[in-house]
Amino acid sequence: MKSYQAHAVVGAFQCNCHLLVCPVTAKAALIDPGDDAAKITHMLEKAEAALGRKLEVEYLLHTHGHLDHIGATKKMKAAFPKAKIALHAGDEPIYKMLREQGRLFGMNYEDPEALDQRLQHEEKISIGHLNLSVIHHPGHSPGSVSFCLHEDSALGAEETLFSGDTLFKGSVGRTDLWGADGPLMFKMIRERLLTLDGDVGVRPGHGEFSTIGVERHSNPFLK
Ligand SMILES: [Zn+2]
Ligand SMILES: [Zn+2]
Repeated sequence: MKSYQAHAVVGAFQCNCHLLVCPVTAKAALIDPGDDAAKITHMLEKAEAALGRKLEVEYLLHTHGHLDHIGATKKMKAAFPKAKIALHAGDEPIYKMLREQGRLFGMNYEDPEALDQRLQHEEKISIGHLNLSVIHHPGHSPGSVSFCLHEDSALGAEETLFSGDTLFKGSVGRTDLWGADGPLMFKMIRERLLTLDGDVGVRPGHGEFSTIGVERHSNPFLK
């Protein structure tokens, strides 16, 4: 059985919302449900059709608390009340400021739901038989994290990093927003991301996918 993965590009900021599904248990996680709840729901329905069974969304995971990554969290929580809203505590203040974040961009949001889980560096998360670990790398925002999906050949899962807005294909995150710290972000990318195996896939919060090896050798911001 092969793990099911998909992503949808959502919202005005074109955030990559990722779906991970354990093929054995049909337990699932959404990473960064940033906007377009209907589009995310459609992605879930397609997964259900492919697997031939109903998904159990256990987690709404967030790489960080910027509005383009959390905008549909409330609607997804309403659709899946048992799903835990998880974010690093470093971004909880920004998460709670969703209305204020929206106002800056002329967008209206309701107050966000409370967090169910505050993520910590090196914390392990299981989605059925799939295993993820949390890598905290403050810089783009105080609570920015990546989720590293661990390789499991029996489940067809390859080692993959969901890197949010910290590491992009050929670029890195901006550091001019609330609580950002440029030098710290570069230090964290070098110490906690570029040290991963070169074969590890990189699925950023925006834009195309890459690998750690490619970014280590050709990302112009990391020369
Ligand atoms: Zn961001
Ligand atoms: Zn973003």
